[in-house]
Amino acid sequence: MSPLIDVRGLTKTYLLGDVVVNALQGVTLAIERGTFVAIMGESGSGKSTLLNLLGCLDRPTSGQYLLDGIAVETMDRDQLAEIRNEKIGFIFQNFNLLPRMNALENVELPLLYKASETPDGDDLGAHALADVGLVGRERNFPAQLSGGQQQRVAIARALINKPAILLADEPTGALDSHNSADIMSIFQALNRTQGITIVMVTHSDEIATYAHRVIGFRDGLIVSDKQMTKRPALAETVALQPVGAVSP
Ligand code: ADP
Ligand code: MG
Repeated sequence: MSPLIDVRGLTKTYLLGDVVVNALQGVTLAIERGTFVAIMGESGSGKSTLLNLLGCLDRPTSGQYLLDGIAVETMDRDQLAEIRNEKIGFIFQNFNLLPRMNALENVELPLLYKASETPDGDDLGAHALADVGLVGRERNFPAQLSGGQQQRVAIARALINKPAILLADEPTGALDSHNSADIMSIFQALNRTQGITIVMVTHSDEIATYAHRVIGFRDGLIVSDKQMTKRPALAETVALQPVGAVSP
């Protein structure tokens, strides 16, 4: 089978006034279905730029991107939005929840763009929250949740459309080590039990140990690409327990 993500000679140039920034300088990368990849590298090395291109949030300056066999680099905005909705879930460092919507409303937000395909949105949202251990928190607003809980809401939102790929840009960057480990347990469970392909940017060597493969970035180029052998045991997984839920 062809790789889920197949990128060839990808470049991205930003123009800021008359300053030219070559954020990606020719990235070639194949990611097989079901893998868990970590991307590491110094700030400014192009990691987020790559993730945005992989996530169809933006288009490359040049190069090719086959996503699940579909050429994405020539698509227009609407087509990109459609494929993004269908195949990709995003997680960000700062959770990006809407502050005036409660947990359930945040999680169900992507369903609004899916027209009538999902007749029973309420159940879907509640199930998605239960899957990340947030039973009893459905009506909480983001400000009433801890950072770790907010990131769980963001994960539930990212998964509501059943994407093949989860893209995470420093998902534990704003969390303490305990919450970071919880979030990684959720990622690991999603990867192992649902086969979701994960591409995660991280600054932490410890967080990167959860991945199968670690790709190093420098100056818009891949400078290393390693398969990992030692990984934390699945026994550490606490993800699908209702951690932090209110007591009955
Ligand atoms: P990383 O995520 O590895 O820190 P980025 O992909 O965010 O790096 O940025 C790579 C380079 O591209 C940096 O020099 C950054 O300043 C520049 N850059 C990123 N986004 C933009 C943008 N929208 N406009 C102009 N320059 C940008
Ligand atoms: Mg970044």
